[in-house]
Amino acid sequence: MTAARLHGIPPTIFAEMSALAVATGAVNLGQGFPDVDGPEELIEEAVSALRSGRNQYAPGPGIPALREAVAAHQERHYGLAFDPAREVAATTGATEGIAAAILALVDPGDEVILVEPYYDSYPAMVQFAGGVRRPVTLSLDPTAPGGRLPRAALEAQISSKSKVLILNSPHNPTGTVLTREELETVAAFARDHDLTVVSDEVYEHLTFDGIPHIPIATLPGMRERTLTLSSIGKSYSFTGWKIGWATGPEHLVQALLGAKQWLTYTSGAPLQPAAAYALEHLDHWPQELALDLQGRRDLLCAGLKEIGLDVTIPEGTYFAVSDITDLGWSDGLEFCRALPERAGVVAIPLQGFYDGDAGKHLVRWTFTKQRDVIEEALDRLAQGRLAR
Ligand SMILES: *Cc1c(COP(=O)(O)O)cnc(C)c1O
Repeated sequence: MTAARLHGIPPTIFAEMSALAVATGAVNLGQGFPDVDGPEELIEEAVSALRSGRNQYAPGPGIPALREAVAAHQERHYGLAFDPAREVAATTGATEGIAAAILALVDPGDEVILVEPYYDSYPAMVQFAGGVRRPVTLSLDPTAPGGRLPRAALEAQISSKSKVLILNSPHNPTGTVLTREELETVAAFARDHDLTVVSDEVYEHLTFDGIPHIPIATLPGMRERTLTLSSIGKSYSFTGWKIGWATGPEHLVQALLGAKQWLTYTSGAPLQPAAAYALEHLDHWPQELALDLQGRRDLLCAGLKEIGLDVTIPEGTYFAVSDITDLGWSDGLEFCRALPERAGVVAIPLQGFYDGDAGKHLVRWTFTKQRDVIEEALDRLAQGRLAR
């Protein structure tokens, strides 16, 4: 029998939907990974590290070159100064950063405020830690009064046990990039209730239309209470590398390392020099990727609209979300299970990323695929039987 900490956590929906894509030959706009690798130059860096003996354990907090490159990146892009020796840590992808942060900060019974729809590792890790999640629903309406995360919705989830708030902007799965005003609301809430913020910023460079990504750590009083996580995966199209990093005040980064040392101890030694190289020398690459992705976003969103699928235009990330009610459906899971058969395309239902029913009618499509793949999916959708 499995341990209770695993009970009730459903298997990831991506496994079911990707298996369905393979079994039916459907075009997979479900799982968000690029179908073209990142820069060749970085592959060469990794190969040369493998060939020059960088194959034994790296230091637990990461090689100094990576920690220095991360600190310089945070300073250059955001004006945030971190001591590479004590305030930066390498992790095995942002995923391990999330796990180590929650295990380090959440005691049994502590409450963690999550924004729903949430990335599925957050509730799983909160449960592993024995914590209790308290979801706040993100509005998809950029003109919502009080912002898409209004103070009243945040306050409704606070209690004397609240300890941590997990934020993710640019946001997977909705493509929302929180504005300065929206971030100020969250920051004031965190300060007033003395919450630690874990900020997942893996899509920090993938924003569109000139919309800036603003790290919450840059707002007044937030640097000292925020643990910021990012990784090489999304910015450099190497989602399989699993090299990430955490930055924050010494007490939070050292707490994270306290948990990390017992999870993986140390992360992929031969890939760390390549990640350092990317941050030091290839700053332009994620910018060009974002511009290119913006064009593919436009292609996908225009096509979905033409087919009659109401779509929210994403401000960042790999994903667009559409509402399927106009097609006569009310259940996204049912829609996504039927879609390969009806149209030869796979999408991801959002309902598993909410505690309640707020996302039951929503599905996610990725546009981090080559243009001809997106065009093929749109052709199939146009010819498929989408109406219920
Ligand atoms: C992809 C993703 C991650 C995981 O990042 P890795 O570096 O691959 O572990 C974490 N958070 C969000 C929101 C993501 O989309």
